[in-house]
Amino acid sequence: MNKRIYLDNAATTKVHEEVFTAMLPYFTQSYANPSAIYTFAGEAKKAVEAARAQVAKIINAGMEEIYFTGCGSESDNWAIKAAAEAYREKGRHIITTKIEHHAVLHTCQYMERQGWEVTYLDVDENGTVSLDALQAAIRPDTVLISVMTANNEIGTIEPISEIGKIAREHGVLFHTDAVQAYGHLALDVEAMNIDLLSASGHKLNGPKGIGMLYIRKGVKIHPLLHGGAQERNRRAGTLNVPGIVGVGKAAEIAGAHMEEKIARETALRDHLITRVLAEIPHCRLNGHRTNRLSNNANFCFRFIEGESLLILLDQLGVCASSGSACTSGALEPSHVLLAIGLPHEIAHGSLRLTLSEETTMEELDFVVDELKKIVARLRDMSPLYEDSMKNQ
Ligand SMILES: *Cc1c(COP(=O)(O)O)cnc(C)c1O
Repeated sequence: MNKRIYLDNAATTKVHEEVFTAMLPYFTQSYANPSAIYTFAGEAKKAVEAARAQVAKIINAGMEEIYFTGCGSESDNWAIKAAAEAYREKGRHIITTKIEHHAVLHTCQYMERQGWEVTYLDVDENGTVSLDALQAAIRPDTVLISVMTANNEIGTIEPISEIGKIAREHGVLFHTDAVQAYGHLALDVEAMNIDLLSASGHKLNGPKGIGMLYIRKGVKIHPLLHGGAQERNRRAGTLNVPGIVGVGKAAEIAGAHMEEKIARETALRDHLITRVLAEIPHCRLNGHRTNRLSNNANFCFRFIEGESLLILLDQLGVCASSGSACTSGALEPSHVLLAIGLPHEIAHGSLRLTLSEETTMEELDFVVDELKKIVARLRDMSPLYEDSMKNQ
């Protein structure tokens, strides 16, 4: 019997039992539209505002600075398209990085087609953005800096506080895609000088289909969705009450257990990394060795296709990923692995394992034991590997 081992928590997470329970009454009992004026709607409205406060609290924001959206991708689109647009009299230049999620990268490419100029900053071999390069890229017409808090593929955490400080000193808006970091890392929008922050429910044991955008009080932003007057006239659409209640609960739980969760995951992650690097030859760790998300490990195995690894792991009930969910299935290697300087043939052999609080040492040991066999088997069939061994 194959028990499932889920190691793809960067793609999505299991809804926490308490989150699920908290959501249930808002489907069949308090199902009113919170915008209605009768008493019955008050229950839903109250629940939404309580969730807004929970979401705000763990990043030290005011609840009136939190806006609910349909997903993290929408939050990224909204922050970039609509904030930039609101400040276009200042200029039409945006700074971002080469390792952003496609929700940011493809939005920036869209902005270029609309006549904006975008600077895509390089990162070093660990995936860290250079503050000097950022300073040098800022121009009088720069309107927005968008740098992710932590990378979804290689886990590297970016110097967000320093970036926020630079942005503030230059009077440039600072947006961060914190979808992987929100609820996983201690964030403080005040201390870090963040003006706009994107997050998503399903990456922190909340439901799918609910996103959040923090918008600092006083920051101008146009609506992305036009229609009703929801979310203080800034985001039309009937509120997803169960989703909002769920993400509020998920944020509360994440905030209450963050330190112990980070400590536990870090120990498991480091055990996994140490074993893989010690026991599997021609293998490298991608991303920063220590300054990375506590649940992320990402490796490249030379002479191997990431997809083959995934298929063989799947046969054992192991859910893993090669790069991001969006890139798997495509033949292009991950833009993140290319940006950290890996050649195509190595970037193709990547494997991302992302843990949760349910992950156990036994599961990880099983995966490493099997991975050793799988890698050896695939290399035995690889002509590249054979050639390389002959040439040694
Ligand atoms: C998952 C993810 C997104 C997209 O969030 P959705 O809610 O799935 O739209 C954006 N950015 C990063 C870094 C992510 O990991």
